[in-house]
Amino acid sequence: MLIVMHNWATEDDINRVKETIQSMGLKPVAIPGAERTAIGVIGNQGWVDDTPLSGLRGIREIIHVTKPYKLVSRDFHPEDTVVELAGGIKIGGDSPFVVIAGPCAVESRDQLFQTAEFLSSMGIKVLRGGAYKPRTSPHSFQGLREEGLRILSEVRERFGLAVVTEVMSPEHVDDVAESVDMLQIGARNMQNFDLLREVGRTGKPVMLKRGLSATMEEWLASAEYILVEGNHKVILCERGIRTFERATRNTADLAIIPLIRKVSHLPIIFDPSHATGRRDLVEPMAVASVVVGAHGVMVEVHPDPEKALSDGAQSLHFEEFERLNKALQNVSECLKKQ
Ligand code: PEP
Ligand code: MN
Repeated sequence: MLIVMHNWATEDDINRVKETIQSMGLKPVAIPGAERTAIGVIGNQGWVDDTPLSGLRGIREIIHVTKPYKLVSRDFHPEDTVVELAGGIKIGGDSPFVVIAGPCAVESRDQLFQTAEFLSSMGIKVLRGGAYKPRTSPHSFQGLREEGLRILSEVRERFGLAVVTEVMSPEHVDDVAESVDMLQIGARNMQNFDLLREVGRTGKPVMLKRGLSATMEEWLASAEYILVEGNHKVILCERGIRTFERATRNTADLAIIPLIRKVSHLPIIFDPSHATGRRDLVEPMAVASVVVGAHGVMVEVHPDPEKALSDGAQSLHFEEFERLNKALQNVSECLKKQ
């Protein structure tokens, strides 16, 4: 439920509404806006009887929200959320388009240092790299795990890059949160609700990838789990969904980007690597994502993709990344001028 106050409502009117909501056993969340104050109500399992509120001074409208998410919606928070990472990097709103890049998996100290050095020289500020890898087969490389985290924190120190890595299980959340700047929830864990609550508790920025076959509503409801814990630093990441089409690894749902921007205040980025599974499609799709309003991209890059231990076919060589980065800058500039 959302209670919209008249713009002439006083502080006393607003407090009375909040107290009444509390007396109904629910939690009020004030949503101050430039034009109006609204009060969101959370904690209800279903329809709320609004009789106790009727007749209170200053209420303009009571909106019953029937969606499975509230805090992530624009109704509850009209302004864009901007998530800030270490080093003052901002993602969301009108912040400059962000390019996150790095290997699928941290494979060795040498591999990550080489990649970080190259990316830093390109002006990239956020490095990705998986220490815990969610692999379809238990026989595939599972990641360097704790050793991978150590290498990531070393690189973070050495190059001053903000680092994002995936966390797969609730018991690793604290260790991962200590080593990196942003926690990634992978597609396969989008509905691991205990994990979502746990990353919510850290208060660290979280990148929530869309599930393999998740609807927008399910995806936003998962983000809601993190916000309910008091952590509003959530970035959504579209990474393609499972469809009948096998020519690409997944089907890039670019339409979801402008739609999410209407429905939610959270930043949304695009992962053209997992969305296509083919390095030759990464650049055109990354460019397309800028045009439809993504706040950034996350791209897989490897010093020697042919020898990569995971996702080599979609990982860019350094020179391909250089070209992609230029193309993204050009398109962003071009759109800004318009
Ligand atoms: C990844 O980013 O390396 C990854 C495993 O992605 P996803 O969860 O989208 O498959
Ligand atoms: Mn990958």
